[in-house]
Amino acid sequence: MADNDLQCSFCGRPKADVDILIAGATGHICERCVDQAQAIVAEEGGAQAEAQSSIDFTLRRPAEIKAHLDEFVIGQDAAKRTLSVAVYNHYKRLTHEHAGDESGIELDKSNVILVGETGTGKTLLAKTIARMLDVPFCIADATVLTEAGYVGEDVESVLSRLLQAADYDVEAAERGIVFIDEIDKIARKSDNPSITRDVSGEGVQQALLKLLEGTDVQVPPQGGRKHPEQKLITVNTANILFVCGGAFAGMEKIVARRLRQSTIGYANQGMTVEDSEALAYVDPSDLRAFGLIPELIGRFPVLTALRPLKRDTLRRILTEPKNALVRQYVHIFAMDDIKLSFDSGALDLIVDHAVERKLGARGLRGICEVILRNAMFDLPGSDTKTLKVTAKYAQSQLDAQHQQAS
Ligand code: ADP
Repeated sequence: MADNDLQCSFCGRPKADVDILIAGATGHICERCVDQAQAIVAEEGGAQAEAQSSIDFTLRRPAEIKAHLDEFVIGQDAAKRTLSVAVYNHYKRLTHEHAGDESGIELDKSNVILVGETGTGKTLLAKTIARMLDVPFCIADATVLTEAGYVGEDVESVLSRLLQAADYDVEAAERGIVFIDEIDKIARKSDNPSITRDVSGEGVQQALLKLLEGTDVQVPPQGGRKHPEQKLITVNTANILFVCGGAFAGMEKIVARRLRQSTIGYANQGMTVEDSEALAYVDPSDLRAFGLIPELIGRFPVLTALRPLKRDTLRRILTEPKNALVRQYVHIFAMDDIKLSFDSGALDLIVDHAVERKLGARGLRGICEVILRNAMFDLPGSDTKTLKVTAKYAQSQLDAQHQQAS
């Protein structure tokens, strides 16, 4: 066959009309048909992946979700159980929609509020769940958000972060998890709106409602403030799971007071609840007393409290989770062929200092950094191939830090 008689075996275009003609065993294909075929393959692959992921969701029962959380988060059993059920129901809801359920029953979203002191694992819980489900996840801080017209970020910027986490794949972002930290900081300052009305706090709560309602939201791709000339991306929030965390300082007193005044339940049965234990009984009316607006509370049907971390929990956090601090440092040193170990006294000492700092598990890392700082500087490349951290060594390093600082 003469060269000029060649044509694409798929679309029939002659060689003269195409840029590239690729020869196969029995025919030819032009660049346009290659593109088209590629698009079909991608589409089919995507559909299959979607079907696959919807099956994955149903496979993760609450007990499995909790077992996974147990690997990374120590203690906090009540919160883990509640969160596992919330996430399970959330994804059940997604598969229910996905399967085109015709029962006519609409399942509500199970957005979650986690109440607990700083460093008790709120962020860690949300992050671990997102990683397990392999969905985009972002952390936003409620304190930087303001209502439109004030200095600060628009609430939509929360979704900008999710889009970034999803590499701007809108569909993936629409199934993601958003963790909003410090939600307690946007509470209005008084239970009685007519006396001291904290306009900014309440305004942000109102603005957040928009995101939670499950509608299309116009999102500035780079976050921050919306500009009139900026191109916005439409994100539907119906299937985004929102998890909010906050320390809610003083909440235990609000709960304890309610429990004492209540005519049913504990007070009536002559039971008393210590303030420190009261947080476990937190309910939506307490959030309202703290200054969250009822509309917002209504969007968070799941509420659970994290307990302050006790000594033995802190000690376990140092060594037990899959990526426990001690394991991380052992690994870092092993990269320089140095065998690092901590004896039991050293671990106790680290916990003592963490308890003193009142930063929950958050304090552990800083303390370990100080203890190992000199060793991390001196040992790489030296002849020392083992470092056994004892309580005495740890204390000497902590003391040295104070001397250096002064
Ligand atoms: P917050 O409650 O303030 O959101 P984070 O989840 O950010 O606290 O925790 C701070 C640090 O402490 C993280 O590095 C996390 O790994 C660790 N941590 C906190 N609580 C736990 C826990 N229950 N189990 C394991 N690690 C924890």
